[in-house]
Amino acid sequence: HAKYRVAVIGSGNWGSVASRLIASNTAKLPSFYDEVRMWVFEEILPTGKKLSESINEENENCKYLPGIKLGPNVIADPDLESAVKDANMLVFVTPHQFVEGICKKLVGKLRPGAEAISLIKGMEVKMEGPCMISKLIADTLEINCCVLMGANIANEASILTIAVEKFSEATIGYRKDKEVANRWAKLFTTPYFLVSINYLAGLVDGLDMGNNTKAAIMRIGLREMRAFSKLLFPSVRDNTFFESCGVADLITTCRMYIHCSQLTIKQTNTEKSFDELEAEMLHGQKLQELFPLLSTVHEICIGQLPPTSIVEYSEHTPNLS
Ligand code: NAD
Repeated sequence: HAKYRVAVIGSGNWGSVASRLIASNTAKLPSFYDEVRMWVFEEILPTGKKLSESINEENENCKYLPGIKLGPNVIADPDLESAVKDANMLVFVTPHQFVEGICKKLVGKLRPGAEAISLIKGMEVKMEGPCMISKLIADTLEINCCVLMGANIANEASILTIAVEKFSEATIGYRKDKEVANRWAKLFTTPYFLVSINYLAGLVDGLDMGNNTKAAIMRIGLREMRAFSKLLFPSVRDNTFFESCGVADLITTCRMYIHCSQLTIKQTNTEKSFDELEAEMLHGQKLQELFPLLSTVHEICIGQLPPTSIVEYSEHTPNLS
């Protein structure tokens, strides 16, 4: 079996936490080499010492993650090319504005078949329009790039949650290869960091329907999710949907429908069938009528409709305000 070697490009707060998390797994999992190279943007510390040297001596990033040991198999390397040259799994975790420059330096320097994942928030805004960081990496380096995000890891305090091994979770988005996404999930999953994988706006992409269709389907999906939440919890405020717990979490998990229907059944705490619950809760209306897109996606998932139905659903008139 192939063995994988991981390099982390970035060593700020999240970069250091991610390296620590990954290294705890590579040390245990036979399909990965133990060593995790972490590229460090070199800085001189107030003591006059180089940051990369300090990390290797103390096994700690005293500037971006003080007080937490990274693990003996994390090796800081200030030389970008040397940090990535043997790796076939590259974790990008620098602030977004440095990604393009870093990628340009790496063109032609990667191992054939290398895979990437981006932990980076934000977008690159160019003259031609905004560009997703994963796309920037994929296009510049001509490699596949997954994404790892969790609405829960949006500030330094929450990143510390992961560093001190308190429970949290994240989602990996992928476009092409589920096996690769599973490998990334294996690399990141620990008992305290639960990672699931998710096909990015999958059906529309898979059917090659293009960005306009994708945007339309996502917009209608979000609108239906809001209506669905209001049905379950009428007091919910519109603003809530624009908070991290709303649209951010929804985009990452894309599983609102499943979560909500499980929740509904759990909360009602009965043995009633779905049809009975539907009749009772929706006062005679059908879920399909109220939430045509959500129902269609559900039926595609359980194999009752073909993937192309995702665009055909709009023939039903959504009964939403
Ligand atoms: P950070 O803000 O802690 O550190 C900044 C990093 O940028 C440092 O490693 C610094 O050395 C490096 N840097 C400075 N100048 C540079 C240059 N010219 N070229 C390359 N690198 C340079 O960084 P972070 O918190 O690890 O964030 C990295 C990415 O992870 C960001 O995109 C952020 O949005 C994302 N993220 C962070 C968190 C978090 O809670 N910290 C959570 C989720 C996602």
